[in-house]
Amino acid sequence: MTMSSADKARLDAFWQHCLKHQYFNIGYPENAEFDYTPLHRFLRFSINNCGDWAQPSNYILNSFDFEREVMAYFAELFAIPHEDSWGYVTNGGTEGNMFGCYLAREMFPDATLYYSKDTHYSVAKILKLLRIKCRAVESQPNGEIDYDDLLAKIAVDQERHPIIFANIGTTMRGAVDDILVIQQRLAEAGIAREDYYLHADAALSGMILPFVDNPQPFSFADGVDSICVSGHKMIGSPIPCGIVVAKREAVERISVEVDYISASDKTISGSRNGHTPMMMWAALRSHSPAQWRRRVQHSLNTAQHAVDRMRAAGIDAWRHDNSITVVFPCPSARIARKYSLATSGDTAHLITTPHHQDTRMVDALIDEVIAERQPGVWRAPRDHAESRDLPLTAAGRVFDARFDVI
Ligand SMILES: *Cc1c(COP(=O)(O)O)cnc(C)c1O
Repeated sequence: MTMSSADKARLDAFWQHCLKHQYFNIGYPENAEFDYTPLHRFLRFSINNCGDWAQPSNYILNSFDFEREVMAYFAELFAIPHEDSWGYVTNGGTEGNMFGCYLAREMFPDATLYYSKDTHYSVAKILKLLRIKCRAVESQPNGEIDYDDLLAKIAVDQERHPIIFANIGTTMRGAVDDILVIQQRLAEAGIAREDYYLHADAALSGMILPFVDNPQPFSFADGVDSICVSGHKMIGSPIPCGIVVAKREAVERISVEVDYISASDKTISGSRNGHTPMMMWAALRSHSPAQWRRRVQHSLNTAQHAVDRMRAAGIDAWRHDNSITVVFPCPSARIARKYSLATSGDTAHLITTPHHQDTRMVDALIDEVIAERQPGVWRAPRDHAESRDLPLTAAGRVFDARFDVI
């Protein structure tokens, strides 16, 4: 492959950009701490996991053996016998949610799906694509689904086969819908277990709750029918990916035999990434459960540090149990922009993924949040934060600095 020197220079410039911003992320749940160096050499191959990893395929360059082990790992993590489950490495949490919704719709074709207003934005798109009837349920102020409103809506709809889309860690506030309460309330309403479907969206927390002492209910043992996790969030991956696990019998219902690949097709995409299953495999094989627990605990400690510091300064910050998402009042647009914070209404959050090995960036952000709340006092931000590229001109910065004083 030949490349012009101008194009090479562009790649060099982008390389510098990536190096500089490698650990920029404090507002989104992507973890940047990973090392897949042993896998780099496989990038020269067109690995493709088209079809079902459990069956032989005509396409020999597949990483099915790795995908099988990844799925065995998650079956155990989510408390379902591997042989009773089926799932695969997806393109991300969204595809996992789509797979869960698809299985639910095939089971109950005319059913209504219920999801709280704190549910990830991509779910609306999934329901539209799958043409699933749906109802948005109110959230409680803490981001959890409003159980009374859920049951009231099911009753008004006279829905006999509700599909429940439960959040195991919402995007904005890290809230976990209590799937035991949901199931108890459905039972009280006279809806038998075989008459509803329960999907768990555990994009971030699916890799947290299995490693804490007192997790909220999240697993197949707790009653889910399917669950998905993002691979590029808590685990960390240079390529977006995810994992979905479902009950085997539900998957059999959607399976189609395909002569062309001489395998059965169960997945949403045709050709599938063969490298990401190897990344997930490498990540899982190179950290023992004890190491995952330590990693998760470190992130939780950092989150608690952020809550404690802000509360000590009179800022109403909080987080849910077992959540690395710290919710706090929306700071100025300048701070939100500088730290790439996701804001929603009058709240913002920071997420203490494992690449925050110390509290430096968290403290730099909090220093600025505190400083802007004290009129007339302007403190220079700490070096670490200042070294990052601001999407502002030099003049903009001067203006912003003055703005803080007013
Ligand atoms: C991130 C996220 C998703 C979407 O996952 P992707 O991997 O980005 O497709 C879905 N649900 C929740 C709760 C999330 O946080």
